[in-house]
Amino acid sequence: MPDLYAVIGNPVAHSKSPLIHAAFARQTGQDLVYERLLAPKDAFVATANAFRARGGRGLNVTLPFKGEAFRYATRLSERARAAQAVNALKFEGEVIFADNTDGAGLVNDLVRNLGCVISGRRILLLGAGGAARGVIEPLLQQQPAQFVLANRTPDRAQRLAQSFAGRLEAGTYAALAGGRFDLVVNATSASLAGELPPLPPGVFAPGALAYDMMYGKGETPFLAFARGEGAALLADGLGMLVEQAAESFFFWRGLRPDTAPVLQRLRQTNDA
Ligand code: NAP
Repeated sequence: MPDLYAVIGNPVAHSKSPLIHAAFARQTGQDLVYERLLAPKDAFVATANAFRARGGRGLNVTLPFKGEAFRYATRLSERARAAQAVNALKFEGEVIFADNTDGAGLVNDLVRNLGCVISGRRILLLGAGGAARGVIEPLLQQQPAQFVLANRTPDRAQRLAQSFAGRLEAGTYAALAGGRFDLVVNATSASLAGELPPLPPGVFAPGALAYDMMYGKGETPFLAFARGEGAALLADGLGMLVEQAAESFFFWRGLRPDTAPVLQRLRQTNDA
């Protein structure tokens, strides 16, 4: 019997995780199956428990259950604790191990795939939801010179910055006027609705990288704005998706797959 894994979410039909993990399993010779698991919005725990009863070994967790997965876990990694959100669960007997691999996924995509240097640079992170929270600690560990968080609802950004002991600055979009950043990461869900976060002009420093966590939507309004503002490099979140999957695969199987051919293949099918 192959080992059983799944991605749990609602909706989940669009998820590319089964494709990615099937490719990792082929590449590393691991005998596993990876399914999509649609959970009713009020039944995350019941659905996860039923999956465990079927012999499930681990889950990736996507919207809207990352907070519930955090509370469901019995043992948290440091980065899951910092994020207060969980996107990977591992079941061993009665123990539910939990990790958050989103931040490592973003940093690995930026540093390894895109050749971005974060250390000593100025970072601007847009948004204060689950995705933003998950990437703050891994970005801080890269030791940027400046780290600013902007959110439409400024109180949310302020509370988030406080929970990281003031190691980043928080404020409104308007307060960004006059600032210059080497890396601007869009962790809002604005692109999902075809909207642009209200960025003032001039925030992209010469040579800046603009990164939208959204993927599969072509050039988003944020990336189009960044292009118009002279950002040197534009990237979507497909690389982050593949890299967080690789971290999850390592969490479950103790093996690191080669992400480059999997990302290349996904890009080809995405563009087709
Ligand atoms: P979330 O918890 O719902 O947070 C949404 C954030 O977006 C909030 O900060 C919200 O601001 C802001 N926002 C929404 N519409 C906006 C607009 N029109 N202008 C400015 N700000 C706006 O969502 P999430 O879980 O953090 O996810 C955010 C995005 O990241 C999603 O698009 C998701 O697909 C993507 N993501 C990608 C990956 C990947 O692997 N590539 C992984 C995780 C997430 P307020 O606080 O003011 O409401």
